[in-house]
Amino acid sequence: MDRRKFCKTTLAASVAATFPLLTACGDKTPVATEANTSIKGISLDGFEIELERAAIKELGDALSGPVMLSGHPDYDGARTIWNGMHDKRPALIARCLSNQDVSNAVTFARERSLLTAVRGGGHSWPGKSICDGGLMIDLSQLTNVDVNAETQRAVAGGGALLGHLDYASLAQGLVTTAGVVSHTGVGGFTLGGGFGRLNRKYGLAIDNLKSAEIVTADGRVRTASADENQDLFWGIRGGGGNFGVATNFEFQLHPFERNVLSGSIIWPYEQAREVLEFYAEWSERLSDEMYVGPTMATTPDGARVMMMDVVYNGDPATGEKELAPLRAIGTPIADGVVAQDYTFLQTNNDVAFGHGVRSYAKNGMVKQWSQELVDAMIENDDPRIFIANHVAGGAVGRVGELDTAFPHRNAEIMIVVVAGWMDAAQDAGLIAACRDYYKAIEPHLGGYYGNIDFDHTAAKGNYGPAYERLSQIKGQYDPGNLFRLNSNIEPA
Ligand SMILES: Cc1cc2nc3c(=O)[nH]c(=O)nc-3n(C[C@H](O)[C@H](O)[C@H](O)COP(=O)(O)OP(=O)(O)OC[C@H]3O[C@@H](n4cnc5c(N)ncnc54)[C@H](O)[C@@H]3O)c2cc1C
Repeated sequence: MDRRKFCKTTLAASVAATFPLLTACGDKTPVATEANTSIKGISLDGFEIELERAAIKELGDALSGPVMLSGHPDYDGARTIWNGMHDKRPALIARCLSNQDVSNAVTFARERSLLTAVRGGGHSWPGKSICDGGLMIDLSQLTNVDVNAETQRAVAGGGALLGHLDYASLAQGLVTTAGVVSHTGVGGFTLGGGFGRLNRKYGLAIDNLKSAEIVTADGRVRTASADENQDLFWGIRGGGGNFGVATNFEFQLHPFERNVLSGSIIWPYEQAREVLEFYAEWSERLSDEMYVGPTMATTPDGARVMMMDVVYNGDPATGEKELAPLRAIGTPIADGVVAQDYTFLQTNNDVAFGHGVRSYAKNGMVKQWSQELVDAMIENDDPRIFIANHVAGGAVGRVGELDTAFPHRNAEIMIVVVAGWMDAAQDAGLIAACRDYYKAIEPHLGGYYGNIDFDHTAAKGNYGPAYERLSQIKGQYDPGNLFRLNSNIEPA
């Protein structure tokens, strides 16, 4: 088999081996009957409350989308999010098709102090877009992306997926920073920061955000931009879903030659130390155009491999020269880095990271590579775990620490420790494996990405000096902490 083809196959198959697919499960809850005048709900503080059917019907009549209770034919589909570990049952799901729908749903929840989850793309690893007994505000139909080639701007709906944004923009010869699995939601991705393979050149997704429409806890629709509600605009660029429901996002786009030097280089795991030690030093000097992310995975036949995920956003010949020293390290099993359509890499992991897999992840920021970190990574490697990375630096690091609410501008890279499996009986073992590995490398990490976060609850420490301002903005726009299912900021 030629090396490029082998490399493509091995990469996809290795990731797939760590993320076997699973089909969604069935509905076992009895349907609420018409005889009941109310259904049970859960309040923001976790108490059982009664939700009158008449009020739910009124909400349903006011919305252009459906309000779904258990038993509605679309209820199970709507409550199913990406990570199969989160099998939760909201009391009701409001499928919103407009700003007004979102406003009505938010008002319904606020007036009853009803626990509220907001679902954009549904990719929350820790399952924050779903809840038991509360209201799920479902934005899954707001997927429209409008691209204006003249102004080089795109407006994406609050439930759009990264693939929608990528494809609509690329069709006009434009692009903005988007993440590495195309069925991830623009909403949660952007509000938390938004790492992608072009961020060293264009910055994080939030660095390309020009404005957003937000329904705040009082039910008002507000525009957040550099000119309007500037404090809100600052807060949503890194502060997650704390301040309201974003119904659309306007992004800066950039002219882009989509035939980019990209792909993976794969080494046998025995060479991982040599490759990682080289990378730790070499990656400090890379151009903004060059994105190289180390990954460790296990192939379907059980071989552990070290991989580098490469994209060069510029002239391929120049990229080849910059990449040459990495290619000279060790003896790769395969090298699939060639000039090819950008969408190949952007969608290459879509099936492997398919919906319904049970998955656990932890992450931490690396301010600077050290020998101790490399040692800890190599010595504690576990073939059941997938080690992924989001590379930062370049344009990401040139934005001031407090210019946006995103707290980790000085990180070089984010290490993501992931496991994926199908059988619930494996939950405890694989979660423990991720935690053990993370514990071993944690002394060399500083802070974490709130978007990929299971165990961390202390948003305060993670946001550092930005927290006080975030807390004040939270107090202004969501004093009752209606939007609490996120990396939560306490209202001042
Ligand atoms: C397979 C996979 C790949 C990933 N790859 C990347 C990557 O390459 N780069 C990266 O930076 N991150 C990545 N992530 C992490 C991702 O950014 C977060 O999981 C993000 O929260 C997903 O957004 P979502 O809209 O799909 O999530 P959801 O589950 O819908 O929501 C997650 C959180 O965001 C809030 N939220 C979502 N949409 C809105 C909205 N419109 N208004 C207000 N609040 C909203 C929700 O309330 C919730 O708190 C990945 C995650 C997965 C599972």
